[in-house]
Amino acid sequence: MGIKVAKFGGSSVADGIQLAKLKEIVEADADRKYIIVSAPGKRFDGDNKITDLLYMCKAQKDQNIPADQLFQVITDRFNALVLSLGLDVNLTGEIQTIRKNLEEGCSADYIASRGEYLSAIVTAAYLGYDFVDTAGLILFDKKGRLMAEETNEALAAELAKHERAVIPGFYGSSAETGEIKVFSRGGSDITGSLVARAVAADMYENWTDVSGFLMTDPRIVDNPKPIERISYIELRELAYMGANVLHEDAIYPARNAGVPINIRNTNKPEDPGTIITAEMEASDRIVSGIAGHKNFTVIAIYKNTLNAEVGIIRKLLSVLEDNNISFEHMPSGIDTVSLVISNDELDGKLDDLIEQIEARMKPDSIEVHDDIALLAVVGAGMDRKPGTSARIFTALAENNVNIRMIDQGSSEINIIIGVSNDDFETAIRAIYKAFE
Ligand code: ASP
Repeated sequence: MGIKVAKFGGSSVADGIQLAKLKEIVEADADRKYIIVSAPGKRFDGDNKITDLLYMCKAQKDQNIPADQLFQVITDRFNALVLSLGLDVNLTGEIQTIRKNLEEGCSADYIASRGEYLSAIVTAAYLGYDFVDTAGLILFDKKGRLMAEETNEALAAELAKHERAVIPGFYGSSAETGEIKVFSRGGSDITGSLVARAVAADMYENWTDVSGFLMTDPRIVDNPKPIERISYIELRELAYMGANVLHEDAIYPARNAGVPINIRNTNKPEDPGTIITAEMEASDRIVSGIAGHKNFTVIAIYKNTLNAEVGIIRKLLSVLEDNNISFEHMPSGIDTVSLVISNDELDGKLDDLIEQIEARMKPDSIEVHDDIALLAVVGAGMDRKPGTSARIFTALAENNVNIRMIDQGSSEINIIIGVSNDDFETAIRAIYKAFE
């Protein structure tokens, strides 16, 4: 028998109907021993996530606006959950404590974490599993950084005492003060990954409301194919370009412990989902996924014999550093160097930046294009496979898409292409079709 860690996101624990699916999934495989839950999420479009409501209570309290009504909505949702599952659990004491702490000025982290806390108590009772709190187990240092090794030891020691447990996602506590501290939003994925590492799981299942990763954005391409298997490295490239199902920081603990992650759909448990593996696997597939973003700026700097001037790029980079701006790419030619920067990063800073580049580099001219979209074509199968770029660029040419920038990492698992914002969707469709 093995060990599976299964994390269920907000939509999978949103109400009694979803929890009944969760139970069926957990009971279908005896290896599913450690269950991590989010706070109840939206039950329908326009509904609220419990975490948002909790943050709102705190915001109202801070503005001296009574939070009673809002708090009642949260209380009612948990009570309805208990009722619909027919559980003999009384949350009154817990809810009163949370209420009291809110009145007495608790931290935003504490109040936000209570959604996961209550969700885990209810789920544990429903499954007949132990409830294991993560306060005192998932540990943060003074600066709010996760203490990975200490956390791993504490989790491993505690979970060894529980054959089956439900664990709240999203939070831990300060090693120094014991105060509750949350991860960034969506952080229950990280809790699941930490638990998977601590119990040396065979698989970390992440149950959500989609059947894994799709080859590209379904808002752009109709019914894109699912990705069955993908490596962490490929996923990182796609996630960076906007293909988000899993919290970014959830990858490392599982990856370092060699635990594969399986993204699954609570509403379609028969779908195999996507398996994320440590190693890139040889397969017939050349391209695993295509992702991208609009709204980048290209700053193209021209200077005669730029390539012969020692230290010129350092001057450029020091301007960026002084202005606290990060860049995405820096393609260069003999007399040119270009910076590709996200428009958000440049917000209000562009004019100053150009002035400083002019002062320090003394270029012949600078051109700015602020309507660039970047797309990443990612696939372990592209490595050492001639003809991939030819296929991409032929597809783009046939669809009349003008390429504004090209960048291929030397790892050869991704090709980044810059096109104008207007061509973004056409470009994605054309490349998808070429490799489908
Ligand atoms: N409930 C938290 C959020 O909404 C954490 C999570 O669900 O992963 O962000």
